[in-house]
Amino acid sequence: MRSYVQEARRRVGRRRARIRPIIERLAEAHPDAKIALRQQTPLELLVAVMLSAQTTDVNVNQVTPSLFRKYRRPEDYLAVPQEELERDIYRTGFFRQKARSLRGTMHMLLEEYGGEVPTRMEDLLLLSGVARKTANVVAAELGDPQGIVVDTHVRRLSQRLGLTKHDDPVKIERDLQKIVPREEWGRFPHLLIWHGRRVCHARRPLCEECVLADLCPASRAPEGRGSPVRDSGPVEGVWGNREIPPASDDH
Ligand code: SF4
Repeated sequence: MRSYVQEARRRVGRRRARIRPIIERLAEAHPDAKIALRQQTPLELLVAVMLSAQTTDVNVNQVTPSLFRKYRRPEDYLAVPQEELERDIYRTGFFRQKARSLRGTMHMLLEEYGGEVPTRMEDLLLLSGVARKTANVVAAELGDPQGIVVDTHVRRLSQRLGLTKHDDPVKIERDLQKIVPREEWGRFPHLLIWHGRRVCHARRPLCEECVLADLCPASRAPEGRGSPVRDSGPVEGVWGNREIPPASDDH
């Protein structure tokens, strides 16, 4: 396995040299890569991202149209009993905790930020129930990315592509910040997320169809090359047993 890892690293080259072509090819393959949560204002964005914890974007998008019609300003979230808000967001799961966080956040927005959603990470992180991933998403979508969003897709693809050897999201983000050009911090996670959803699936990545096959040390496409032809598919579970080469220390 050691020789496989070394051979894979040698084949694809240094991550600093690969990051530009990775971004360019993903941008071409997924020109529609953007946030899947439907929202139109900074407040709707913040609420949608908070509700998306531990559930799917599809679920959130089913709840938010009527929610956003009813709750238009921070004051609206505080004008109803907490139980009513809980009922209105029930389908997103963890509704009690989320309702508490939403109300705490609305209090803070009104008291500290004049009812507006701040864009600085240090301010966003002070809001109730807002952790680093949520703050990163909101800041990036408001046009001021100050970090790189690391979700399950970004983590998986960053590891497979040899861009990080870490498992901890904060360390992964730090590795990515060293190599992803600053102007791409907002778009880069969307590219990985959409590639993860469409091609680099968790259990059965479609390496033969992947535009990154020759740049990816974890590719199982023949000679690391992608192909438009889909094969009959690997045996379920094979991927999970295969070692994913860690990133080389080339930074
Ligand atoms: S080559 Fe395979 S493992 Fe690598 S990014 Fe593409 S689909 Fe994922």
